Amino acid sequence: MIDLRSDTVTKPTAAMRRAMREAEVGDDVYGEDPTVNRLQELAAEMLGKEDALLVTSGTQGNQVSILTHCRPGSEVILEAESHINCYEAGAAAALAGVQFCALQGERGAFSAAQAAAAVREENIHYPPTALICLENTHNRAGGAVIPLEKMEAVYRVAHERKIPLHLDGARLFNAAVASGVPARGFAACADTVQICLSKGLAAPVGSVIAGPRDWIKEARRWRKRLGGGMRQAGVIAAPGIVALQTMVERLAEDHANARYMAERLAGLPGLRLDPAAVETNIVVAELTNMTAFQFVDSLKTRGVLVTRFGPQKVRFNTHKDISRRDVARALKIIKEILIS
Ligand SMILES: *Cc1c(COP(=O)(O)O)cnc(C)c1O
Repeated sequence: MIDLRSDTVTKPTAAMRRAMREAEVGDDVYGEDPTVNRLQELAAEMLGKEDALLVTSGTQGNQVSILTHCRPGSEVILEAESHINCYEAGAAAALAGVQFCALQGERGAFSAAQAAAAVREENIHYPPTALICLENTHNRAGGAVIPLEKMEAVYRVAHERKIPLHLDGARLFNAAVASGVPARGFAACADTVQICLSKGLAAPVGSVIAGPRDWIKEARRWRKRLGGGMRQAGVIAAPGIVALQTMVERLAEDHANARYMAERLAGLPGLRLDPAAVETNIVVAELTNMTAFQFVDSLKTRGVLVTRFGPQKVRFNTHKDISRRDVARALKIIKEILIS
């Protein structure tokens, strides 16, 4: 199988397996797991934040962040196609009791003016605006990098209106590698950040949230409430350290494979996409002659897995377990299906 569904399907490396086996551990609910502490220090350092916290998943990281920033009945400004709005099972409504003000962005980014207009004035009729969220890279916008200047402009609005800004950086290191802006540069435009260890960085489990020390202390309580307080979690943190130390630079390879794939897909009949829009490891294409169901099913029977991304849309996601040869083989099969 050539699995292009998601960069979450990546298997841990041999070095990660070794690190898990050899990890020094303790009870992390007591704050006594040295490996978890080392991961959190490393992540905080890389993101330029005071402190960090290991969480079970990106969704838990975003939800702990929303719970820590917001009170029930308040409003969160985010992008309409964001992961928090589309793919977290309504968690923010179910758990934090917040409502969303979803702004339509351009390639995943709403403007500072849109954000400013969406911030509620003080009025007893209105839900107080409690948080602004950004996502970088932006998944549904095809792995688009939100440019630093756009983040800075939104952050200025947030700062002026005294509203915290949370960055869903599930793929922040993809943005860093693609743009040359270090992760901490993007993170500097946010009060709190979530990064995934288990996507392109290939660790088996986990995400990290980072932010001010007091805020992390409160987030730790929310993580406990959600059942995310783990015991000898060093076995999870150890491959996370390997991920942050050794798996970031190689993301460039995934980006090159995605671009290679996009350039060749663009020449095929029945598919519409702009290869120049492919900045990282995600390729989104529109089907013009068949439904996404048909396309995904016929590819599956030929050994290629891709994700349905809408009635006529599909997503191809490159990652460390996909070689250039896999891409070439997938392209050949896709071509046969489109032409038959
Ligand atoms: C995958 C993803 C998440 C959530 O991560 P999980 O570990 O799958 O819960 C959050 N935000 C974005 C943008 C993602 O792509």
